[in-house]
Amino acid sequence: MPATVPDLPLTPARPIPQLGYGVFKVEPEVAEEVTAQALAAGYRHLDTATAYRNEEGVGRAIAASGIAREDLFVTTKLWNDAHAFDDAIAACEASLERLGLEYVDLYLVHWAVPSQGQYVEAWKALIALQECGLVRAIGVSNYPRPQLEEIIEATGVAPAIHQIELHPYFQQRELREVHEQHGILTEAWGPLGQGKSDLLENPAVTGIAEAHGASPAQVVLAWHLAHGIVTIPKSVTPSRIVENLAAAELELTAAEVAAIDELDRPDGRGGADPATKTA
Ligand code: NDP
Repeated sequence: MPATVPDLPLTPARPIPQLGYGVFKVEPEVAEEVTAQALAAGYRHLDTATAYRNEEGVGRAIAASGIAREDLFVTTKLWNDAHAFDDAIAACEASLERLGLEYVDLYLVHWAVPSQGQYVEAWKALIALQECGLVRAIGVSNYPRPQLEEIIEATGVAPAIHQIELHPYFQQRELREVHEQHGILTEAWGPLGQGKSDLLENPAVTGIAEAHGASPAQVVLAWHLAHGIVTIPKSVTPSRIVENLAAAELELTAAEVAAIDELDRPDGRGGADPATKTA
């Protein structure tokens, strides 16, 4: 029996399964195969992007799965070269074509790229895409706090979700508080630390894993879920695809969650800084 993944409400789309399958750095040639494995394992939430160059493979796996469209939650993202209004509309249509879908459940602006100065225009395009039904929910990814607040101020529309780098070594407490004030769901990319640190060998994590007969990755994912964060671990390893989904069944104690909270580090960021990221 696949794990039961909790849903979180997402206005105005269907609820979002809190644990999904991410496909960053999944080569286009294997995207169909690994996405099919994830769907067979029980994932119903997929996270891709134009920039990953694997939307076609993901789309083929969806089509071949036989899973009803309304039972799947699919996210894709607008790349940095298409923030101008008309470009954004065309980019979304091209993503839908590659995915073979009539709509996506969630469309995100991938990076704010503040130096480019088009993050408000890109957000206005997403609002238009939602109004015409090509995307059900809209959100952003990698928006520093000032740019996040600016798009809300400029349009009166808050993103339904903000996808940001987030893991126990980089917990993004300030942004999470801003999200709470605006009713924005927090979604974690790099939830396992992307293999860039010793997170999965940290004794606080491995100790809790041993206590539960679970893996360190499952403990980290259960920590995300305990905090109400949407999490989308990536793996191309069949056993890990299954293992990560099963984290939905792992319940940590309040003390265990608090022990992992202690791992936050000022220098814990592993990826690009959204404030200085250029296209
Ligand atoms: P993750 O934190 O999910 O880490 C992926 C790495 O961890 C891979 O090397 C994988 O190896 C390994 N791994 C997976 N499961 C396990 C396990 N159970 N035990 C040990 N190691 C494991 O990083 P990602 O960068 O992939 O982030 C997840 C998703 O977030 C992406 O796939 C993408 O959808 C999204 N993302 C969004 C970004 C954005 O800018 N909006 C940026 C980056 C990611 P292997 O595959 O070999 O099994």
